[in-house]
Amino acid sequence: MITVAEVIVDVAAYPVDRPFDYLVPAEMTQIIEHGCRVKVPFGPRNVLGFVVAIKNETDVPLEKIKPVSQLLDIEPVLTAEMLDLAKWLKNDTICYEIDALQVMLPSALRAKYEKIVHLQMDVEHLPDSLQKIFGTSQHVSVKVFEKNNLLPELKQALKNKQVSIENIVKQKGKIKEVRKVQINEDVQKLMEIHHNISNRAKKKKQLVEWMQHHSGEIMDPEVIYKETNSSSQVLNAVVELGAASFVQKEVFRDPFAKEVKKTNFLSLTDEQSVALNQIMAAIDEKQPDTFLLHGITGSGKTEVYLQTIAKVLDDGKEAIVLVPEISLTPQMTERFRSRFGELVAVMHSGLSVGEKYDEWRKIHQGKVKVVVGARSAIFAPFENVGIIILDEEHESTYKQEDSPRYHARDVAIWRARYHQCPVILGSATPSLESFARAKKNVYTLLTLQQRALKQSLPKVEIVDMREELKKGNRSMFSQSLVESIQLRLDRKEQIVLFLNRRGYSSFVLCRDCGTVLQCENCDISLTYHRKNEKCRCHYCGYEIHVPKTCPQCQSEHIRFFGTGTQKVEEELAKLFPGARVLRMDVDTTRTKGSHEQLLQAFGEGKADILLGTQMIAKGLDYPNITLVGVLSADTSLHLPDFRAAEKTFQLLTQVSGRAGRHEKPGEVVVQTYTPEHYAIELSQAQDYEPFYEREMHMRHLAGYPPYYYLALVQVSHEDVLMAADYAGKAAEWLSSQLSFKVSIIGPTAAGISRLQNRYRYQCLIKYKVEPDLIPTLLQLIKIYRTDWIKKGINLTIDLDPNMI
Ligand code: ADP
Ligand code: ZN
Ligand code: ZN
Repeated sequence: MITVAEVIVDVAAYPVDRPFDYLVPAEMTQIIEHGCRVKVPFGPRNVLGFVVAIKNETDVPLEKIKPVSQLLDIEPVLTAEMLDLAKWLKNDTICYEIDALQVMLPSALRAKYEKIVHLQMDVEHLPDSLQKIFGTSQHVSVKVFEKNNLLPELKQALKNKQVSIENIVKQKGKIKEVRKVQINEDVQKLMEIHHNISNRAKKKKQLVEWMQHHSGEIMDPEVIYKETNSSSQVLNAVVELGAASFVQKEVFRDPFAKEVKKTNFLSLTDEQSVALNQIMAAIDEKQPDTFLLHGITGSGKTEVYLQTIAKVLDDGKEAIVLVPEISLTPQMTERFRSRFGELVAVMHSGLSVGEKYDEWRKIHQGKVKVVVGARSAIFAPFENVGIIILDEEHESTYKQEDSPRYHARDVAIWRARYHQCPVILGSATPSLESFARAKKNVYTLLTLQQRALKQSLPKVEIVDMREELKKGNRSMFSQSLVESIQLRLDRKEQIVLFLNRRGYSSFVLCRDCGTVLQCENCDISLTYHRKNEKCRCHYCGYEIHVPKTCPQCQSEHIRFFGTGTQKVEEELAKLFPGARVLRMDVDTTRTKGSHEQLLQAFGEGKADILLGTQMIAKGLDYPNITLVGVLSADTSLHLPDFRAAEKTFQLLTQVSGRAGRHEKPGEVVVQTYTPEHYAIELSQAQDYEPFYEREMHMRHLAGYPPYYYLALVQVSHEDVLMAADYAGKAAEWLSSQLSFKVSIIGPTAAGISRLQNRYRYQCLIKYKVEPDLIPTLLQLIKIYRTDWIKKGINLTIDLDPNMI
């Protein structure tokens, strides 16, 4: 009988994305499993691959089938669930299966590493063959077992949990040395060894003599070197003799080494209880329902998450909590660690490759039960998931922009079905898509209308900056905001100033009438290009020179808009000499941990004013903040994005929620040139539903999601004509295959028309129900991979794109 492995190989750019059969050599048959990584010959090279199935037959003629060259994992790195999920992602996001498999693993597993086997119990429990390998040592490289043809025995020992395997990433400076020395506890034996060492080997003799006084102790090698004035060579030599052994306790790097105070469960408000009970019932009944927890800022959504997780842990299951990268602040993660302590793993992009791998390993080995992390934590390799939570579910960062272009929400719902458990989507300002689904009872809506501590929402004042200008105030600060700031400074309260910097400097605005230059053909604002002083529609390519006067009111006060945080800081210094300002933007938070340090400093009252971009809009929860100022609410409103109004409303609601979260009442001042815009007007009352109704109406009129689905096909080439030509071919082919109900817009130049010296063209597909869409797109991909790719074309497909 033969054993054959189906392998997904790491070769993108192959016309068909399917597994290839490889013969499993006899010595691997007992060890190989699906979910293991292998090296296999592919063309002239050896490439990485994932075993997705093991079988006993193949259609490949036996004289042609090639053997697996190397088995990289003795224990599978991917579960059967993950292999299924990859297949689904491949179709649902139209990506290579290999990309889907790779995205589930920490990048450390793509780096170079060495595999070490650790003894988990007394060596006597192992079969003789393995005992010999370990000798007096506690850990031995897998290579040694491989050389001695003992991998099947090793695998059995792994299954029996007699040993464990650790991959040590070969990364200079990143690995914490956790090796310790255990001195033999048998003094008699030590004396014997001492006796047998030749007198010429003075150092060794001295060391063993010293060890006789420390028998049985576990020590840092460094301490031993110091105490005995010996070296690692000497120590290694006496370890060889059996005087001591190296032990390696698994020590995880802890990026949050700080002590966390335990906190207790709060007794819930009525609204919280109602929500929690419904979720608990779904958990008990193993219903994979999706709940949309719509609660205003400060309504205690997080407490609902925490108590749900407690229940899940009681049931012996695990929890996955996703939060946007930007709100993965210590304040947020501590709330989880303070309840569940060591059971929590935290994953975010600020961790080093090694640290991320440590967290992943804790999950893989079942050492933790809760993961709190950004988007990719949705792939946490838990095997018994009881709840999946997405906080701030409306955040666009839950969608990955590169292949596989997955949305964490979709993956969450898929995994929840697999595990028969509910999903909670939480937000004060749900995405329109989610709220629409809740209204149609696809999701179950849970509502928290009151703040948990019964604090009132802060009063929001909207200041019309056009009026300020008329009064002769040309500064970035309105009279009202200046007065409010001064009042807080006098009272020694804290202020947060928010500069909406998405789309910095990117649009042209008349400061007299508020007109923003719009495209003639589309309902979208033009983007300012400093390089050639032009304004351009990224949607249809329409372009004009920046006018000298406003086309509406002929005012000369028309110019590109956007102010940097630095400029604001300078102006603050002039207006409020002596005020302590903390600036937080991409420039001041570049180094690891600086974000946390700035926040902590502000929390400790080391500054009066915190000035920043949207990164301060989330999670900030300090009792002394009583004023929030938004300097330019319009900046995100005029982005060339059909979600611009939604994003503006969300941002304004978020930042307003930062004020007056505790005893002291809060106030918010929002400065804008378009106070009449509904996104700004409606954010004043922080009332989501009227905004939802209004925005849905607009989307309906314009034919955008959630009324329509979008798919974006992008084509790039070094030569602009080739890019345009093939984008045209793609559009033509699509319209020939898809039904007439589908509209195909384009090809047009992409938003960023040249990237890394490649010209980019795109077509947008708008559709409602189109069963043929995915098969058609897969066909297009096939044409691309068999033919176009050879001409240097690159084609990508983004279903449900964030930006168009
Ligand atoms: P959200 O996540 O909805 O913005 P939080 O969970 O941060 O709200 O809650 C806001 C504040 O109210 C926090 O300080 C939290 O500790 C407190 N809180 C939440 N629920 C309760 C409760 N049931 N009793 C007392 N305080 C609560
Ligand atoms: Zn004007
Ligand atoms: Zn246009």
